Amino acid sequence: MSSTGSLERLLKLLFRLPGIGEKSARRLAFFILQQPPSFAQELAEAILSCRMNLHPCPECGNLTEREVCDICADPLRNRVSLCVVETAEDLLVLEEHGIHQGIYHVLGGRVSPLDGEDIDPSSLDRLRRRVEELGVREIILALDPQVEGELTAQSVLSALSGLKVKISRLSYGLPLGGSISFADRATLHAAMESRTTIKDEP
Ligand SMILES: [Zn+2]
Repeated sequence: MSSTGSLERLLKLLFRLPGIGEKSARRLAFFILQQPPSFAQELAEAILSCRMNLHPCPECGNLTEREVCDICADPLRNRVSLCVVETAEDLLVLEEHGIHQGIYHVLGGRVSPLDGEDIDPSSLDRLRRRVEELGVREIILALDPQVEGELTAQSVLSALSGLKVKISRLSYGLPLGGSISFADRATLHAAMESRTTIKDEP
């Protein structure tokens, strides 16, 4: 990039965003510059506000500005059905499409030996405690259909061993190698409806 000063700084920052190449960074920057200054201010404030105010819900790991998230605080949520996801982004996608009426648990990571990634053991401990305390009867694993998703599922299964709970997994449906975040509503609904039981309540 050959721009200088403020513009170069903006282009470099936009270029660091996932899925944004040099052309896209340039297009976004010039779009912002064509808007009134109030737009740039609102955008900057919205980004900063999210970054400073959002924190993981101490119960489920969803992002929230409150003490606990809206889903955990909602008395109408079905607490016997718990959906396990890798990230708060996956949770947001399932919620936007109305896929699950129960509660969630965000693992905050996945098992990927090649990338040196693992799940924080405290998240798995918290999951086990919640399942016991809330009397959860079914756990639905909504994990990406990849090798890492399979390894992550095994890790969750062993963390819950000995508990009287049915465990099922979204059936895919989802393109192999794809991800929850990019799946459309119809695919996700079908994957939930035809979920497969991987461990029955003893
Ligand atoms: Zn929560």
